Amino acid sequence: MYAVRRFAVRHSRFVERFYQSFERVIISLDPIFRRIGYGRLEKPVAFTEKVVKGFLFDCKMCGQCVLSSTGMSCPMNCPKTLRNGPCGGVREGGFCEVKPEMRCVWVDAWDGASRMNEGAERIKIVQPPVDRALEGSSAWLRVAREKAEAHSSVPANTGKQTIADAFKRAREFEPASAPLASEPKTASTTPERLK
Ligand code: SF4
Repeated sequence: MYAVRRFAVRHSRFVERFYQSFERVIISLDPIFRRIGYGRLEKPVAFTEKVVKGFLFDCKMCGQCVLSSTGMSCPMNCPKTLRNGPCGGVREGGFCEVKPEMRCVWVDAWDGASRMNEGAERIKIVQPPVDRALEGSSAWLRVAREKAEAHSSVPANTGKQTIADAFKRAREFEPASAPLASEPKTASTTPERLK
């Protein structure tokens, strides 16, 4: 919902604090998640994430959440789905070039980031392109899984490793932006046309 997502940007500092606490909780739940099986949890958690973040941020479930680096303004609401912005077409008053009735998602992002702890620094970090194969999957579970796998060995020179190496700074704050952890089958939704 447009009004709610703009509210989240205006209160980005509060949303950030809340999310940091929430992230600590989901990471601490990793042993339970592992016992149940991440694959089994994927569907219900992704559904919950979609409902909650859909209401708060107009989340499009890209699966690689970068809200903490974009002032709590979801970049997937940009009609050009830019992961780094704004583009050169912002209209007078900060409105979108493609949808003139909408505030530019990236103008909002810079605005929200300026209120956040480290937001002004994070938004300057170049984000990797979206991996469409992860669309619809849970970024919450990905973060929990990734942090848990941080202590185990990760296969080198995979496609994931290459992207992760290229966007080290982005990964420091947003591990889900260029995921390294292996994905359960249910987390990968590679469209048929790409197979
Ligand atoms: S960045 Fe992706 S996961 Fe995060 S709110 Fe936007 S669409 Fe949803």
